[in-house]
Amino acid sequence: MAKKVVILGAGYAGLVCALELNKLTTAQEVEIILVNKHDYHQLVTQLHEPAVGAKEQKDVTVSINSILGAKKIKFVQDVVVSIDKAAQEVTLEHNKLSYDYLVVALGSETEYFGIPGLKEYSFTLKSVNQANRIREHIEDCLKSYNQDKKDSKLTFVVGGAGFTGIELVGELADMLPKLAAQYNVPKDKIKLINVEAAPMILPGFDEELVAIAKKSLEARGVKFIIGTPVVQVEPGVVHLKTGDTISSDTMIWTGGVRGIPVVAESGFQTEPRGRAKVDEYMRALDEKNVWIIGDSCFVLAPNGRPYPPTAQISTQMGENAAVNIYSSMKHIKLEKFNPVLLGAVASLGRKEAIGSLGKKMKATGWLAYRVKDASKYRYLAKIGALLKS
Ligand code: NAD
Repeated sequence: MAKKVVILGAGYAGLVCALELNKLTTAQEVEIILVNKHDYHQLVTQLHEPAVGAKEQKDVTVSINSILGAKKIKFVQDVVVSIDKAAQEVTLEHNKLSYDYLVVALGSETEYFGIPGLKEYSFTLKSVNQANRIREHIEDCLKSYNQDKKDSKLTFVVGGAGFTGIELVGELADMLPKLAAQYNVPKDKIKLINVEAAPMILPGFDEELVAIAKKSLEARGVKFIIGTPVVQVEPGVVHLKTGDTISSDTMIWTGGVRGIPVVAESGFQTEPRGRAKVDEYMRALDEKNVWIIGDSCFVLAPNGRPYPPTAQISTQMGENAAVNIYSSMKHIKLEKFNPVLLGAVASLGRKEAIGSLGKKMKATGWLAYRVKDASKYRYLAKIGALLKS
């Protein structure tokens, strides 16, 4: 009888895992069920673009059914509530699914570090719906400014200067002046502020590239407040550790991520930020038939630091899990997770980026932007979405 493989989450890790497993197996060997909250796959690496209206939802999502086509993967649109390891059963909001093999690829959620008011009064950028909310809010601020001339409507704060924060700031720096012209708002009244707790933006990234990014963004009017944590948010006010406050109606929080709670709640071993501990084959600790991949898990790289929660790592975890599920079914040796790291590129807005590619290569400007664009198209080709999106 065919083994039942249930894959929870159709993000980078889950979708690639389903597609790879489909390639490796026959319908007689496995039944693959892919569960996802929405009927589309999100290109999370591009969300900064719809957040400012530079792109639309259709540009950063791909219909799951169009990717799956006639493949032997059954798609179930539902929300995961809990996992019962002992009964080998997943409870969804509208259904229950039993499994022989389970893949948990449910991603991450925003980490608020317990900062008062942050969750209640800030926007986040982890889904296309959240990106849409940011865009609508920014437009509302600009549209309504001329009615009450409230300056806090024209002050935009991004909390956190990791890759998400910087890519968003770059996009905002390009789009805010255009939106100001569109809504007849004085450009010089617009303030774009990026607050970062660490002593530098893009902490840990190549310092030469960081300096280039900072200069480029400052030249477009971005004000950086670094070495200064956000400590509280109230409606219309962002409080900094220095005691200073910023009057702003827009706080967008990109200060970090943590694992999805359902993983720990279902009894899997997790580290303090809610990410599951896994073995070298990406299986949940002490489990032989459950894989936890993507942002939901925690894996130490050979340098002793955790692999970052990136699309690049997630897709490779998806491939590795597929191979190892197949190997488990066939009782052959499993493959250790050993990703190929291709570097990282952060876009700085339209047609500009910085990239650290491999050990020594660096790219800046339009070239780096093209590298980032090319990696998006490579990924779309991989999931078979290039002609369908
Ligand atoms: P992150 O954790 O990398 O960055 C969060 C930043 O917020 C940090 O610099 C941190 O110092 C800062 N911060 C935390 N608390 C703060 C506070 N109280 N006040 C001010 N600043 C505070 O999170 P991210 O940027 O969402 O990135 C998550 C992962 O996704 C990373 O691994 C990143 O590399 C990856 N990513 C990659 C790309 C890309 O490759 N282009 C794009 C987006 C994200």
